[in-house]
Amino acid sequence: MRFGYSEACLDHDTGDRHPESPDRLRAIREGLKRKHGVEYVEADPASREAIGAVHDPEYVDEMVEFCDDGGGSWDPDTVASDGTWAAARAAAGQAQWAAAEALAGDPDRGTPFALGRPPGHHAVADDAMGFCFVNNAAVAAQSVIDDGAADRVAIFDWDVHHGNGTQDIFLGRSDVLYSSIHEEGLYPGTGAAEETGEGTTLNVPLPAGSGDADFLLAIDELVDPVTRRFDADLILVSAGFDAHRHDPISRMRVSTEGYALMTDRIRTLARDLDAGLGFVLEGGYGLDTLSEGVGIVHETLDGRPPIEPDKQAEDATEPLIEELATRFDLG
Ligand SMILES: [Zn+2]
Repeated sequence: MRFGYSEACLDHDTGDRHPESPDRLRAIREGLKRKHGVEYVEADPASREAIGAVHDPEYVDEMVEFCDDGGGSWDPDTVASDGTWAAARAAAGQAQWAAAEALAGDPDRGTPFALGRPPGHHAVADDAMGFCFVNNAAVAAQSVIDDGAADRVAIFDWDVHHGNGTQDIFLGRSDVLYSSIHEEGLYPGTGAAEETGEGTTLNVPLPAGSGDADFLLAIDELVDPVTRRFDADLILVSAGFDAHRHDPISRMRVSTEGYALMTDRIRTLARDLDAGLGFVLEGGYGLDTLSEGVGIVHETLDGRPPIEPDKQAEDATEPLIEELATRFDLG
């Protein structure tokens, strides 16, 4: 894979005890040292115009000023430093690069993965929240649409949290499909099955304790057919790794192999649609599991066949999937 990476993303300083720390990117880089075929690219930072295409300019002005003044706590979870605006621009720029490169072709080994921070999917049009300032995946999706490189973009969010920001930015838009599988009841509390927008918002809130088989069933029965019907030109994965069974902040049980299987499913989907495929980093707070997760995405696209789980989906998953299949009119 090719990884979009910028040292500027290390300058977003959240303090000593924050789970979203620069050590996350360091751990990923350390893990990738042991893999073959890893290439790094430093893309240009996102312009203020590109960020302003999905965020209110007044909010952007306020954020820039907040960082220029040295930062601090934007809210109890969301901390900025004087390096945050530059880091956010760099992270959004890597995501734009990933979207553009994904559309330019060179699948599998050349698949782009934007390794930026701060993460993005909780950032709404006019506010930062949940460790996120600029919605990287949203900036990337909007920029390829504005450039005329894609007509329809599907964002698939497998982070354990609901990407309320991405949903908020694109709700009711017919050219961006937002699909999310997340832990029900976890921060920020949004993402109920009933939240479908104009039919281009798909939320699969799985109960705590769900694992590989549940995520895969949700992909096979919902994300896959809905994305096919939408006929995406580009699939961007909002790739958080906090649904991992050893992640400290969720109660989900996805294994490292589960991320390989999800990657393989989405790669097949992209191939069948002749769509571009790119990844944008979101959360993931266990340094080892985060590093392993990114590593296994890379290995899967590099040709390693994943192994199907022997465990069945939880009892609660099937009725939820049936309800959503009805809601989305899937045969
Ligand atoms: Zn998350």
